Amino acid sequence: MNILVINCGSSSIKSEIIHSLTGNRELVMRVERIQKNPVIKFGDGETITPEVTGHEALLDLALPKLLEKQGAGGIAAVGHRVVHGGTEFDEAADISTEVEEKIAALSTLAPLHNPANLSGIRLAKKHLPNVPHVAVFDTAFHSTLPRRAKTYALPKELREKYAMQRYGFHGTSHDYVSRKAAEYLNKSVEELRIITCHLGNGCSIAAVEYGRSVETSMGMTPLEGLVMGTRSGDIDPGLLIHLMKNDDLSPEGLDQLLNKESGLKGLSGQGNDMRDIIEKAAQGDDDCRLAIQVFAHRVRKYIGAYAAVMGGVDAIVFTGGIGENSQMIRHRISQRLDFLGAILNEDKNHFRLDDEHPVGEFSWNHSRVKLLAVRTDEQLSIARQTAALVNKKKVNQIPPIPVAISARHMHITQATLEQLFGEGYQLTERKPLSQPGQFAANETVTIVGPKNQIERVRILGPVRPKNQIEISRTDEFFLGIDAPIRESGKVENSPGCIVIGPKGKIQLTDGVICAWRHIHMTPDDAEIFGVKDRDIVDVKIGTGDRALTFGNVLIRVSPKYKLEMHIDTDEGNAAEISRGATGALVLSDGEAHLTKKKLKR
Ligand code: AMP
Repeated sequence: MNILVINCGSSSIKSEIIHSLTGNRELVMRVERIQKNPVIKFGDGETITPEVTGHEALLDLALPKLLEKQGAGGIAAVGHRVVHGGTEFDEAADISTEVEEKIAALSTLAPLHNPANLSGIRLAKKHLPNVPHVAVFDTAFHSTLPRRAKTYALPKELREKYAMQRYGFHGTSHDYVSRKAAEYLNKSVEELRIITCHLGNGCSIAAVEYGRSVETSMGMTPLEGLVMGTRSGDIDPGLLIHLMKNDDLSPEGLDQLLNKESGLKGLSGQGNDMRDIIEKAAQGDDDCRLAIQVFAHRVRKYIGAYAAVMGGVDAIVFTGGIGENSQMIRHRISQRLDFLGAILNEDKNHFRLDDEHPVGEFSWNHSRVKLLAVRTDEQLSIARQTAALVNKKKVNQIPPIPVAISARHMHITQATLEQLFGEGYQLTERKPLSQPGQFAANETVTIVGPKNQIERVRILGPVRPKNQIEISRTDEFFLGIDAPIRESGKVENSPGCIVIGPKGKIQLTDGVICAWRHIHMTPDDAEIFGVKDRDIVDVKIGTGDRALTFGNVLIRVSPKYKLEMHIDTDEGNAAEISRGATGALVLSDGEAHLTKKKLKR
């Protein structure tokens, strides 16, 4: 679905219409210099220099223009980036009036950002009143921080009075790149300990342990942690007391100093752009050299700390403008991490990330810890989280899944068919099966195992490139064959058996499997259920006392499929399934319950 993503920041508005599945950008809009001499730029080249200023007036002007370009009905939902979700929001939320009020109340924690985010929400609701609006919070991914990581060592009363704790930010980015890295490593994020370093104008680092953020460097505000473009990151709080006493600094003055005048800008004296600093450092500017050293040192220090926090690390991921593009900064941070098992390969550290190559690896093959740069895409992540929430709501209204019992059967190659039935033999159709194009053939074979044989095992057509015999656990015991549970088509290293037909017999060396219970569905169904091809889900069949939940059900998605769950005869008997039985995905909070372990591709 096409999602309008609105990132209404304190000084600029970024907006994109993104297709949630393909990630294609349909239209892009940027509003810059919101308070003075604003300019609105559209991806098609049109630029407007409006008379008005401020978030609301500018969006009021820009949004109808964007909608006009996109065409009516082209947007299924709107995803809004909201910086602070406090302790209220640990995931994306459908924006009701109550949610709006909570976002407004959280402005005390993010005075520059939440009010701007809220303006975006209100204006977008005005112009798109009939589509869902979803808030995606920068803090939500870090809501899993354990108490020991999020608590400041301050008196309890004070902490409670001002909701003072570490919240963490850039959550959408840390979440996105950790998943992308896991995908690249062909593993599930739930089996990896990843340190994600988001190094842009704002910088933060997170320890993502088995898919959950357990530590991050930004705190109650985005000021804590790493050295950033203009923010100091960690400093001794005693230094602030000293400044207040001796330099007569007001809260506003401190804010300006620590948020706007420090970090790379303060260190280098050359502004906050890392590219300029690197260039000046190469020309011999000592302040710029120091800026780079302090910057890289701080990141290294945190990497060591986070490896300790997680008791080890499997991948270190760099992202953000600096992390994605600067080979030199990646090098400085990653050198001498061999003690952790992360061995830098400088020859591989020269890639350029783009849409086609969103991940670059720069560790040696034998490096136990992988060093990766991953292109972040917060807008796409917001679009996907928005689509997922919209689908979650739909999932409660979707029809049940028809359940079919699949009796023992054989898929056969043309060559084997001819060996068993005679040269040139063609399968003949007895009746069509529910999956389009498939049929039960009139032909049957006898299967012979070490202990027994089973006659009249039906062949399913059409012929396939590989022989495959699908039997139940009971059949296995009867035949004396130890068949693995596999998805259809995966017969490598499975046992074989003898197959007898009317004109001959053949010894198969492999092909006997116990079919993995699965659900066939179309891509449209998958979007409604909020699942992807090869996800693994739980399914409840039947109701009341007779209901039985089947775990470990494989999702298979293809435009050729028809929605149907396939179980074998043993499972059908266990659930006392009769004709017309249906199943439903087990939902937690309206979301399909995905089993933790994803299937490796
Ligand atoms: P972001 O906030 O993620 O857009 O990142 C902005 C930061 O990335 C700025 O400090 C840029 O100077 C920095 N950056 C972008 N490209 C490069 C590059 N090739 N080398 C070093 N820094 C870069």
